[in-house]
Amino acid sequence: MMHAVVKASSGPGAVFEQWPTPKPGLRDILVRIEATSICGTDMHIYDWHESIRDKVKPPMVMGHEFAGKIMEVGKEVSDLREGDIVSGETHIFCGKCFQCRTGNAHICERMLLRGVDTDGCFAKYHVLNEQHAWLNDRKIPIEVASAQEPLGNAVHAASAAEISGNTVAVFGCGPIGACLIGLCKSFGATKIFGIDIVDYRLKLAKDMGGDVLIDGSQQDPVKEIMRLTDGRGVDAFFEMSGAQPSFEEGFKALRPGGTAILFGLPSKKIELDVANWIVFKDAHVRGVFGRRLFGTWYKTAEVLKAGQVDLSKLITHRFDLEEFSKAFALMKSGRSGKIIMYPNKKHA
Ligand SMILES: [Zn+2]
Ligand SMILES: [Zn+2]
Repeated sequence: MMHAVVKASSGPGAVFEQWPTPKPGLRDILVRIEATSICGTDMHIYDWHESIRDKVKPPMVMGHEFAGKIMEVGKEVSDLREGDIVSGETHIFCGKCFQCRTGNAHICERMLLRGVDTDGCFAKYHVLNEQHAWLNDRKIPIEVASAQEPLGNAVHAASAAEISGNTVAVFGCGPIGACLIGLCKSFGATKIFGIDIVDYRLKLAKDMGGDVLIDGSQQDPVKEIMRLTDGRGVDAFFEMSGAQPSFEEGFKALRPGGTAILFGLPSKKIELDVANWIVFKDAHVRGVFGRRLFGTWYKTAEVLKAGQVDLSKLITHRFDLEEFSKAFALMKSGRSGKIIMYPNKKHA
């Protein structure tokens, strides 16, 4: 048995309790989790948010972002060894469907999500199939390796629009939005607007390289963006929050012919003014989900190696895994960047 953060029943909260240590199958690896990080999805599961209720079947172990050491490999594992430091892709693809076989495994037709549809990694040990693992460079700090999954989201989003020489607006400056700001900076954006309603997040956005930070609860982002782009609007708008006002402000602040990248997940259906925000503007609108497999992971690893984004600036808090309820409360307050938890108590 091992200790794990378990979503024990349908309703808010989770418990720290004993759970059977998973056993690796023929093509699986058993990983001792050295660091694991909390994501917005975990927060939704913890709070029993309506967007996730139908998907999660308690009891289950939560969590999907991690880095750890391989302790055991299945008999048919060919490319990984005991002692390797790995992370895992959250999108558990089948490898056999149309999408997987045409280079789009991140939108696999039979996809399962780690820590949503399956047991996760908020535990001492976690088992995953070799094909969903990512071998980390040993030079990358273990906490950064855990948090590279959301950086991967940002890399995927940034790759969907032209950044170099362009103005961009990032609506929603949580950890993924802040990573995106760091990437836009290093990819050569000429002016980066960061918009949020939490001052802590605006500070993170500034630390990551944002040029103009706008508190949407105090100022009108559309007016500010128009004022600072000669009345033209931004070349690219990234919606990272899923909040209705961000869609409205973002599309209004987008210049005609510009690109809108939609990443944030609204908790319910929202209204879009298709005629004015998209058609008359001849706007390019693109949804992005997860990371390309595994192209985005290779790119993300290179970004980290080159020091183009300093993820350590985004890691603001550390807890032992058993203090998970404190960690979740902090995350809910909005006054944190990436929060790391340690199932094997090594961070002191
Ligand atoms: Zn995540
Ligand atoms: Zn598939």
